[in-house]
Amino acid sequence: MTDGARWLRRLAQRVWAECLARSGALWWVQRRLRSQGAVVVLAFHRVLNEQDGRPSFRLPGMIVRPETFAAVLKHMARHHLPVDAAEAEPGGKPGRIRIALTFDDGWADNAGLVTLLSECRCPAVVFVCPSLCGQILPFAAETPTAADRALSWEEIRRMRRAGIRFGAHTRTHAALPELRAEEARAEIAGSKADLERALGEPCTVFAFPYGRTSPALRRQVREAGFARAFALWRGVWTEESDPWDLPRVCVWERSFTGLTGRFSPVMFDYCVFWRAWRANARHLAAREPEPSRVSAGKAA
Ligand SMILES: [Zn+2]
Repeated sequence: MTDGARWLRRLAQRVWAECLARSGALWWVQRRLRSQGAVVVLAFHRVLNEQDGRPSFRLPGMIVRPETFAAVLKHMARHHLPVDAAEAEPGGKPGRIRIALTFDDGWADNAGLVTLLSECRCPAVVFVCPSLCGQILPFAAETPTAADRALSWEEIRRMRRAGIRFGAHTRTHAALPELRAEEARAEIAGSKADLERALGEPCTVFAFPYGRTSPALRRQVREAGFARAFALWRGVWTEESDPWDLPRVCVWERSFTGLTGRFSPVMFDYCVFWRAWRANARHLAAREPEPSRVSAGKAA
């Protein structure tokens, strides 16, 4: 797609979001989410400014700029209810929509977010790959800089002391459906054991790398002793959700900004609530019935 076509697409999306806002549709969808007691889980990767990570900007879909991230947190703290993805439970009538923040891969820049997260009282869960800690991450830019490494164990421990929670994301960021069952088990259970050894506490949450999962892998995650697992399909978490296939909304800079490049509350409502709501309905309609799913959900 050319730059011009991309810009036109962005323009059309923003005009559409504005129409939905003015018609009351964005307000309506939030009312539905509140009445369902839904949790919306956001999946971030990196919070990076252009100077620190110019080569990394070849993967812009993983990046939010620091000023946008700060605006998102302040907006969330003011209008919604930030919750911990590891402890949140959907249901009830919370009055505000619960939003949980998660970060995938444990990029080193996440260490710089601790103060802002605690000032805005936003809990966060960072999903890390224990075998990659401190290393340049394999899916970083072709010519990685120091900014393209994963958090070190020292940084992880420091962040944990400051209240950030850590979940497992396999040992090596493996594409689990491509592995044999015993290899997948070693990646899943091994990442849990490594984190528990390093942090001295139970690790209860898991996120599937690339969001790639299957019924057999979800069963393995449950058997490894995780209480819940997050995928990357866009949707909302309700009481009906499968605890080992929880949806998340993958977000990046453009999820939150208008055409001027500044934070836009309309784009936030559109990307976080409207698109998640719409995708949720499509996902549930398309999903094949899984006989084990109902009993697995009850066992949680
Ligand atoms: Zn990942």
